Formats: sequence, structure tokens, C-alpha cells
Amino acid sequence: MTPRNLGPIALLKRLIAARRGDVRAMEDVYHLRGVLTVIAVFLATIGLPGLMLVYYGVVGIRADELALAADVRRRADAASAEFKSAVETQFSTFQNTALSRLTSGQSVHVGQKELSDVLRVAFGFDGDGNLAEPFLSGAGVDPREDQAFLLFDEWREAQSAEREGLWERAATLYAQAARQTHTRRDRARCVYNRARALDRAGLGREAEGTWQQLVDEPARDLYGFRIGDLARLQLAQSRLKRDPAGGQEDLKALAEAVLTQPWEIGRGGEGAVARRAIELLPNSDWTARARGRVDERSAQLYWAERLQPELDTLGAKGRLLRAEPGTFVYMRTDSAVWAMTWTESEQYAFGLDLRRLLDRYRVMAAAAGGPDGDIRATLVGPDAVAPSSVLSRGSLAPWLPNWSFVVTARDPAGLAEQQADQRRRGLGIIFLSLTMILVGTVASTRLVRRELDAARDKSDFAAHVSHELRSPLTQIRLKAEALQLGLATDDVSRSRHYDVIVRESERLSRLVDNILDFSAIEKGKKKYTFRIGDLGLTVARCVEQAGVAMETKTMTIDFELPDDLPVIWHDADAVSQVVINLLSNAAKYGQQSAWIGVRVYVSGDPDGSGRKSGEICVAVSDRGIGIAPAEQKQVFDQYYRSTDPLARSKKGTGIGLTIVRYIMEAHGGRVGIESAPGVGSTFTLHFPLSFVPPS
Ligand code: ADP
Repeated sequence: MTPRNLGPIALLKRLIAARRGDVRAMEDVYHLRGVLTVIAVFLATIGLPGLMLVYYGVVGIRADELALAADVRRRADAASAEFKSAVETQFSTFQNTALSRLTSGQSVHVGQKELSDVLRVAFGFDGDGNLAEPFLSGAGVDPREDQAFLLFDEWREAQSAEREGLWERAATLYAQAARQTHTRRDRARCVYNRARALDRAGLGREAEGTWQQLVDEPARDLYGFRIGDLARLQLAQSRLKRDPAGGQEDLKALAEAVLTQPWEIGRGGEGAVARRAIELLPNSDWTARARGRVDERSAQLYWAERLQPELDTLGAKGRLLRAEPGTFVYMRTDSAVWAMTWTESEQYAFGLDLRRLLDRYRVMAAAAGGPDGDIRATLVGPDAVAPSSVLSRGSLAPWLPNWSFVVTARDPAGLAEQQADQRRRGLGIIFLSLTMILVGTVASTRLVRRELDAARDKSDFAAHVSHELRSPLTQIRLKAEALQLGLATDDVSRSRHYDVIVRESERLSRLVDNILDFSAIEKGKKKYTFRIGDLGLTVARCVEQAGVAMETKTMTIDFELPDDLPVIWHDADAVSQVVINLLSNAAKYGQQSAWIGVRVYVSGDPDGSGRKSGEICVAVSDRGIGIAPAEQKQVFDQYYRSTDPLARSKKGTGIGLTIVRYIMEAHGGRVGIESAPGVGSTFTLHFPLSFVPPS
């Protein structure tokens, strides 16, 4: 089996056999070491690193994509967590402050702005779930009752007396009316008007006495004022005239009392009484503060009127009472978020402005994604269509159930583009690696093939050499033994035996010369001894030698040598070996024609001025089997032997022409070939005249 035919499995078997000491296998493996080295180098430098690059390219693409997605998702989660914690902080601050105020007994309507800037109104309920502070529900009066009261005869008469300026009569009529009324409220209304009529009539003392009776009266007049408050206002005004300091004290006390007591929703008289009392006082810090408090309370009343009906729709009174004290429950109506809480005995509802709250969260959401970040946060309500491809979502429960903070990619296409970019980069690496592997594989395959050829040639060479050595030795030994034993009885047969011995010895010595020379040439150790001399003489000696040599003795050698051949630098021994190799090939492959032509001539311009540009040519021709054009270059390669069966039938080693080429190169020349199969061949040696050996 030649190494070229070794498949991977056969090669493996050989390797195993070689390790076990099989000599033949060891020889094969020895010849194949070049191939194995190329394969190992390829794997180490290109194959494995390339495959690793491909692997990491594939893994890298996936990892990069995941990392990008994870990074965006992480930032989205962080934004939504941050948002939620900001909201949580706001509400927990609100809750804690509210609770501590309530437990320290502070009224819910004081300092609402500081509690939360979106807090519009706060309600306190009594144990039965009725509004208790700072507002009462305006359930009190049925308008029809007031209508009936206005039509009441004594009342109408008293009113017309007043219009006519008959103040005393009016006072009497009001006293009568008071006696006719059925309810405490209506009586109080009549008594109050009587006091006013008395005052107008100039009966100040009686008037004061009458108002004094009414100072604790909680009932309201037809305009919604508490009659008790009005009576106190009148008394304070009267006192102001006699005793300004005392009167001012009374007015302050009145304003303070009005601001502290619960106001009635839907009536609004309290604010006017307090304002009037403050107006009557000289301006001071106290009046400025008190005016501010009245304004704040009036604004709360405005919101209380708007929001209380919404609170009623929750119908949560009973439910709230069952909840745990100190905790908060959130509920939402059309325009408010209600924070409900309670102490042991009372419950409270804080109405936060829903619109303002949402506006604030929208601003926070817009800031959360950053102005040009790749994520965007929005606030999504119960009615909104949820955006697609949500990256993170944070619910606003319990404060705003059904509302959530939603983070999406600002530009999903951009994100995909970024991922595609990374994928392209990864694919680029993979493509490069694969190209590298491909190029490496092609190059390595060529190298492997060349190494295989070399291995085969070396293997063939070894076989040929051993055969070439053995066959002349066998011949010599057989013939010598025959002579020794006297088996050749007559002169003719003895002479034939001697001829064989001489011919085979010549062959043997030529072979040994060639092998030794080749080995020296291969190692770069061939030594040349250049001398200036007559090349024609050297060639002539070879031709002469061929004439007597057994192999060529019977052949016709046409030798042409010009007389005036210039002398040139050459190594006569080396040139002889070249010429003898060519002559020997001409004899070997010259077939039956038995003709060899040797022609020495000068070519170029030997006689002209450029004499040195010419060359001496030595052409050795035969009329033998010839060489196919495709093989004409290869015959000079080491170990190369023609594939033509005719040529193969001749013994040979494939190094003769290689030596010729090397020696010609050492002389600065070359060897040319002209050949046609079946016609013959001419090998021409070109020795340049200009050649000077290296010193
Ligand atoms: P060898 O003759 O030992 O095989 P060479 O190197 O001298 O080795 O020649 C190489 C090959 O070239 C030969 O095997 C043969 O096929 C071819 N060759 C050489 N000289 C001739 C020739 N004169 N005619 C035909 N073929 C030749």
C-alpha cells in the first residue's frame, strides 16, 4: 500500500500498528510524518481556533442579544420600581403625618396644605358615621318649611311694620309671632328679629337682653346664618360702643368660635359672620391670620360641597367602621382619591384631587424614561388601551387601583435594529472564521497532497533503490560464482559472464555515485571544484567512456564537437556525471534504435562584442520512447518517474535528472528538453560563458 492510498481509518490502523512495533507500519508512518505535521499544524493554528471563533460567534450573538434585552428590561424595572417607591414615600409621609396629627387631637382642617398639596378636604365622622368635623352635612332644612314660615301671618305683619319703620310695633308683633310658632328654630328666628326691632327702636338694653337669650342658639335664620352667632355679633357690636376693648375681645372670641366649630355644608353663613367680626377689629397680625384661616376654611367648604356627594356614593361608612384603626384604605370617586382612616372612635376621609395627582404622576412618568433614553414611561388608566410590548409595569394599587405605570421601549424598531446590528457583527466574525477555516483547509489540503506525493515518491525511491542495488549485485554474484565453479566451460560464455559483471558493476557504481551526490545536494553539502577548462574535452571523455561501457558499447554515438570551443569555468567531475546520466538515460529509453547523438555547440553571440552573453550547449539526443508534454517539466523533480508503462519497465530511481538540474544550476546554467512520444528526446545543457564561480 502506498501512503497516498491510506484513508483516515487505514492511517489510524497504521499508527496503532506502528506503536506496536510493526516495521512496515512504522515505515509508512515515517514517510507520512510530513502529512501528519501539516494536519497537526493546521488543526493547531487554524482549525481549532477557527472553530472556537465560530462557536463563540454563535454563543456571542445570543448572549449579546440577551444582554441588550436584559439591560433594557433591567432599566425599565428600575424606572418602575423608582416610580413606585416615590409614590409610596409620598403616601406614607402623608399617612404618618395625618395619623400623628389625629392622635395628638389636632383638627383635620388645620394645616391641610402642609399635609399634602393635593389634599382638598378632610372629613371627620362620629361613631355613627355622620359628618362631625369640620363640616356637617347640610341635611337640616326642608325648603318647603321655610316657604311656609314666610307665609306665617304674624311674621308677615311684623315684616310690614318694619318696612314702615314702626319698630316698636314690629317688636311686639315678632313677640306674638314667637308665641305662635311650633318649632324652636322658627321661635328663635322671631326672637332674633324682635331684638333687632327693639334695637332699632332705641331700646338697646332690652335688645341686648333678648340677644343674650340667643347666644347658644344653633338654629339658622332664613339666610343660613346660625342665630346664636348673629346674636353674639350684635352683642359684641353693642359692647364695642360702650367698652371698645371688651367689644374687641368678644369679636375675637366670636371669630375663634366660628372658625373652630363645624360648618354646615350648603349654608356658608359661618364664613360671612367670622369675616364680619374680623372686619370690625382694627388690623393686626391676629386679624391677618384669622382672615387667612377663614379663606382656607371657605375653600375647604367649596371642595366639601363638591366632593361630599361623591363620598356618599361610596356608601362605605359601615365598611370603614369595621376596618382596623390606624390603617389606611384608599377609594376612588370621579374626581377624588379618598384616603380613609380611623381612630378608636372616629373615622376620617381625606379627599385628594384625582386630576392633580394624575397630572403629577404623568410628569414623573415622563421624567422617568429620561428625555432621550431608549425607554418611555406612561401612566395607564383603567380605560386606556394598554400599550403593546410592555417592558415593565408597576401597579399604583392600593392608592390608585386600576392605574399603572407602564414602561415600553421608546423606539422598539430601534431596539430591534440595535440587536440586528449585534447579530450582524457576530455573523461577520463567524463568516471570517469560516473563511479562515476554508482557506486554511484548501491550503492544508494542497500541502497534505504535496506531502503525500513526497511520501509516496520517497517510499517508491526506497523501493527502487533497494531493487536497483540488489539486482546488479545478484547478477555479479551469480556470474562470479559460475566462473568460480567452472560452470562456464568455453571462452565465449566466460567472456559473456565477464561482460555482465563489468556492466553491472558500472551500473552499480553509477547508482552509488548518484545516490551519494543526490544526498549531498539535498542537504546542500555538495562541493564543486570549478576550474577554467575545455568543456568539450570533458564531454568527449564521457562519450569515449560510453563507447567502452557495456551498456552503451553496442550503440552508435554521433558526436559533434567544434574545434574552437571557448574555455569556461566548470567542475569536470560534476559535468561528467551530468553527461553520463543523460547518455545512460538515452541508452535506457532509446529503445531498439541504438543511436545516441551528442552535439556540442556555441550559441548566442560568441564572436561579436557581447561575446560573454553566449553559451556552450551540449545536446544529447535519442530516438526512443520520448516524453509526453505534460511530463516534460516533472521529469526533473526528485524521485519522479514517468507513469508511461514503457518507461516504467526500465529500472530507475528518479533522481538522475534531478541531479542534472542541480548541477546545471550550480554552473549558472539550465537544462532544456525537447521531446515527442515515440519520436525521441533531446536534452540540452546550457552553460553560460559569463559564468564565474562564487569565491
Ligand atoms: P530514472 O531514469 O532513474 O527513472 P531520471 O531522473 O534519470 O530517473 O529520469 C526521470 C524520468 O524521465 C525517467 O523515469 C523517464 O521516464 C524519463 N526520461 C529520462 N530520460 C529519458 C529519455 N531519454 N527518454 C524518455 N524518457 C526519459
